[in-house]
Amino acid sequence: MTYEQFLDYYTVTASIDGTPLPVTVLRLKDKDSRECPFVTPEGCTVYTDRPVTCRYYPIGMAIMKQYEKPSEEEFYIKILEDHCLGHQEPKEWTMQEWREDQQADLYDGMNDDWLAVVLKAKSLGMVEFSKRSLHLFNIASTDMDLFRSFVFESKFLDNYDIEPEIIREIRVDELALLKFAQKWLRFTLFGDGDFKFKNTDVQKQLKAANAKAEAAMKKQ
Ligand code: SF4
Repeated sequence: MTYEQFLDYYTVTASIDGTPLPVTVLRLKDKDSRECPFVTPEGCTVYTDRPVTCRYYPIGMAIMKQYEKPSEEEFYIKILEDHCLGHQEPKEWTMQEWREDQQADLYDGMNDDWLAVVLKAKSLGMVEFSKRSLHLFNIASTDMDLFRSFVFESKFLDNYDIEPEIIREIRVDELALLKFAQKWLRFTLFGDGDFKFKNTDVQKQLKAANAKAEAAMKKQ
């Protein structure tokens, strides 16, 4: 199944609370049951590839970040719902054991830069993004076929100075492309990170524009 097919069949677009950023969420089976499209009486049909939220459940993860503070505070919440029979099991888990068992590091690692973008957008409040920025955010968050076309079939590589080794890697490695997309999002939306333009004048203009935007936001 292509990204486009998956997104069409199984997802809807909403927006991330407190931001204008789009987020893709699973389309539930129907309004009343609100069941996941992958659940059956026999269990989860995509279990080995289940999303990280399902891996954490019945634990919820929260991150608190304040705009002026560089560090983030991470904490976990136990979700007590009657339909989760796991609460009746005698075995006790520490948070570390649970995360290791569910390969949470691997999956959280795929989301790190994306989450940093979202946290920054949230801490800034309802700032305006151009339609193009929102569109690129959506592509870089959800559709690696489209993002690959954007990188290799547009003027992207004429504009950015990217190491040949990285270009080779993201051409063939889907996960590397996803991480690259998220790093680029941080750079293009907020100027974070070390992407370089081939044209140094553009680099200076972007840096100045970002510094101006940050100063304006701090005043609000
Ligand atoms: S584990 Fe996640 S993906 Fe699988 S059926 Fe449950 S909610 Fe759906």
